[in-house]
Amino acid sequence: MLHLIRRSNICAAATVSLLLFRVAAATELRFDPVGRQVIETRLREYPGDNRQREITLKQLFSDAGCSDKNVTEQPVKGSKVPNVICVLPGSSDKVVIVGAHFDRVSAGDGVVDNWSGASLLPSLYEALRGEPRRHTYIFIGFTDEEKGEVGSRFYVQQMTKEQVAATDAMVNMDTLGLAPTEVWASHSDKRLTGELVYLARQLKLPVTGVNVEQVGSSDAEQFAVRKIPRITIHSLSQETWNARILHTSKDKLSVMRLDDYYQTYRLLAAYLAFLDATAPEVPARASRE
Ligand SMILES: [Zn+2]
Repeated sequence: MLHLIRRSNICAAATVSLLLFRVAAATELRFDPVGRQVIETRLREYPGDNRQREITLKQLFSDAGCSDKNVTEQPVKGSKVPNVICVLPGSSDKVVIVGAHFDRVSAGDGVVDNWSGASLLPSLYEALRGEPRRHTYIFIGFTDEEKGEVGSRFYVQQMTKEQVAATDAMVNMDTLGLAPTEVWASHSDKRLTGELVYLARQLKLPVTGVNVEQVGSSDAEQFAVRKIPRITIHSLSQETWNARILHTSKDKLSVMRLDDYYQTYRLLAAYLAFLDATAPEVPARASRE
């Protein structure tokens, strides 16, 4: 994901009043984030080519407790490496999808872009698995984002109309840990953005809107094609962009700010639990394909 970065004012006011009502009715947020050491150990498992990373991600899901019957490798047309999917079943037919691409370009270590996102998937699963949820959570490591969102495009194309209608949110992580949590506001659903900002304030964790326009894209845009509400979380800023870290030899673990990275994980773990409580009871389905 790339380029031309603009700060954006996220106006969450309208969403917040509605939310306060919903949250008051909801039970306390229940989630159990893993420790910082686990997050950093998983982050350090970035070495290897895309095939090796796919194997590593599958192993990390297993380590996190996503058992064999809930993990699948989805073969993707046009890619040699499959998507990796871990499902956390919920009590209703509603779905939240959490995605990050695990593939990399050849320059650098591809740890910022995007093992930083992919290696959080098992830890987010782990944070949610201990309590019953209404939503089924589908955690997806996407293949070949760098070749044109190949894995996410395939995933979205094979979704049935019913699956599209049942999906309340797609949360995409791409390029984390260069700075405090950021949201690509211009390419994220307003309700989902408002809920993230509201929750971050409650938890006293930072989040800002930073738009990365023009050249760039990311897996969430495939979900937008079928009008699934999506949000992309990242950490790019004008500074980090100017430093030309992505897709170069500077994409190394040493450029990551691990304090910020762990805060992003904590916010996202809370956010996913929060979405289970705040998703609209009667979502607007009619306009979706
Ligand atoms: Zn990326």
